[in-house]
Amino acid sequence: MSQELRDLLSNNRRWAAATEAREPGFFTRLAQQQSPRYMWIGCADSRVPANEITGLDPGEVFVHRNVANVVVHSDLNALSTIQFAVEHLKVRHIMVVGHYGCAGVRAAMRGIRVGLADNWLRHVQDVRLRHRKRLEHLPPAEQEDVLCEMNVIEQVGNVALSTVLQDAWARGQPVAVHGWVYGLRDGLLKDLDVTMDRPETVVDRFAAALKRYPRADAAGGRDAEVLDAADTGFGPGAP
Ligand SMILES: [Zn+2]
Repeated sequence: MSQELRDLLSNNRRWAAATEAREPGFFTRLAQQQSPRYMWIGCADSRVPANEITGLDPGEVFVHRNVANVVVHSDLNALSTIQFAVEHLKVRHIMVVGHYGCAGVRAAMRGIRVGLADNWLRHVQDVRLRHRKRLEHLPPAEQEDVLCEMNVIEQVGNVALSTVLQDAWARGQPVAVHGWVYGLRDGLLKDLDVTMDRPETVVDRFAAALKRYPRADAAGGRDAEVLDAADTGFGPGAP
């Protein structure tokens, strides 16, 4: 085994010993059961680790990560993870967490080909196209930041519209979906104020979140925000 991997294993032994010394019985307790209150759906980017950023220990946050923190309606990997978190672990909060400077979002914004992931990032390109009137009049750097935020808002909606969340809310189970974005430059999380905690509020929360990004032609006299929400086909049974 190479030295760099041996270093990782010795780091691990030191960490396990220090953790057990600080909190005797830590691992024995965790080995019996996990009961996290939070689920984190984030980008696979190595600079955005869920536990460290939020100061949470092992056992406190259930994590699903992929390129550009996308939740696709038919992605059995994400859906199975969300179902386990909601129905078995009974998490109270699900955070979809994007980050500024996301290479996946940048590729989608600029139409850069990266390989197989192009097909995955097509979902982010769809977000860009759907909201192009809110994006195109901004300077390029700002466009990327705004698309990072819009992508989170869209994915919060996708989680909220999944059968898992709809069924949980129908049962009266308390669980909320939040949208956050992380700054690589300052290490800070920002709440995008798009929390959805029951089905009746999903469409309104979605439309209100998008309204914060003005369209270039918003003065047309039409209710552009509602049209935008309708453009997404968002919200079955929407009023
Ligand atoms: Zn990323």
